[in-house]
Amino acid sequence: MNEKNNQKSGNHQNSEVKKKTRSLLIAGNWKMYKDHKDAYVIATALKEKLADISTIRIVLCPPFTSLQSVGQAIEGSSLLLGAQDVHWEREGAFTGEISAQMLLALGCKYVIVGHSERRHLFHESNKIVNLKLKAVLKEGPLPILCVGETLQERERGKTEEVMEDQLKGAFEDLTPEDIGKIVLAYEPVWAIGTGKTATPKQANDVHLFIRRKLEEKYGPEMAAKMNILYGGSVKPENAKDLLKEQEIDGALVGGASLEVDSFEKIVRSGVDL
Ligand code: PEP
Repeated sequence: MNEKNNQKSGNHQNSEVKKKTRSLLIAGNWKMYKDHKDAYVIATALKEKLADISTIRIVLCPPFTSLQSVGQAIEGSSLLLGAQDVHWEREGAFTGEISAQMLLALGCKYVIVGHSERRHLFHESNKIVNLKLKAVLKEGPLPILCVGETLQERERGKTEEVMEDQLKGAFEDLTPEDIGKIVLAYEPVWAIGTGKTATPKQANDVHLFIRRKLEEKYGPEMAAKMNILYGGSVKPENAKDLLKEQEIDGALVGGASLEVDSFEKIVRSGVDL
């Protein structure tokens, strides 16, 4: 297989494992689990267990109410704090909402935007995702932008169309410089919290498609730099096979990030790739 064809098939059949060209980022999305005390205990344990890892960016995204305690627990370590959502205004009469500026003040380095649970359970449109991205980019934390198709969309052969649509909507009016700061997470909705994982090839193929689209629009340099994470039932048993893929630059982990041992194993699967 020549290099071009090999690229097209996403390298998944390559027996010779290539060294990663982008450093990995592995984020734990704790969803609506763990109060501030339990979160402190878990984050403290992770800080100790992962102290030797310097090559992977590790981000913990607890609920808003646990951000401060997790921030305190991981102080002085290389673990990074992230939030799960944000409002697009800086301040105002928006009862129950939290702004990017408030997250920044608490030490958040990353903010998840457009998670499928937000899109589907809370009806967040591409327009809302776009407003949130702009707010986060303006204030300073880095967004982890989630995109992904439903099972029905995949079965109808619409995965690529959905990716294009979600990316186009999210990136509206953003400068190339802003887009260069975004971390993408491909999270097929059918694989989130279901125990069904996309195969490494399925995931890699979508990542490759996304990268090609970025390349067409923003040039090869920016496309080559963009971190594209995979998310959807990542576990210690499947993490290495996913992370080994050339186009997969890390993972967004839900359920398996709530257990210290399983999250540690997932992170360690990414060392030395
Ligand atoms: C997520 O919440 O982003 C996620 C991928 O969840 P899980 O790993 O549980 O599928």
